[in-house]
Amino acid sequence: MSQAQDRIKDQAGPCGIICVSCPLGSGAVAESAGQTRKHISDCKIPMWSPFVPGGEIIDWTAVDRGLDWMEKYAVCAGCGNGGGPPDCTIRICARERGYELCSFCPDLDGCAKFEWLQEHGIQLKEMLKESRGLSRGEYIKKMSKQMPWKA
Ligand code: SF4
Repeated sequence: MSQAQDRIKDQAGPCGIICVSCPLGSGAVAESAGQTRKHISDCKIPMWSPFVPGGEIIDWTAVDRGLDWMEKYAVCAGCGNGGGPPDCTIRICARERGYELCSFCPDLDGCAKFEWLQEHGIQLKEMLKESRGLSRGEYIKKMSKQMPWKA
């Protein structure tokens, strides 16, 4: 288990996202950025790219800067560790109401706070509705294979 995965083990946001299944939470995004950076360097891509159509206009310094940034910062600590989008309407609301999962909230059916998650929000809401009465641990066990994405 990676350091990132260990940090978010057994965590789920109030929105129902199981942190280890999310590529930002598991560290998969940061790891792949680091690997890509290494491949670019090991395969000397900036050296030969100008001889391949379109390669001459790529700013490899900017690409390297972006990948370096992703490797360091494109990792989510999980809501329970103070991570996640700072302005997440779901987390703010659930905290104010004292729910660790929105499945405990009587207003879940009509809640519009999931809209910013678009189609994932619709899916997560359905999973939370199906999991009413379950503890966070039971929810994680039941839904870990059904997340809208794979890490
Ligand atoms: S209203 Fe209820 S379901 Fe909606 S975000 Fe707040 S706690 Fe979650």
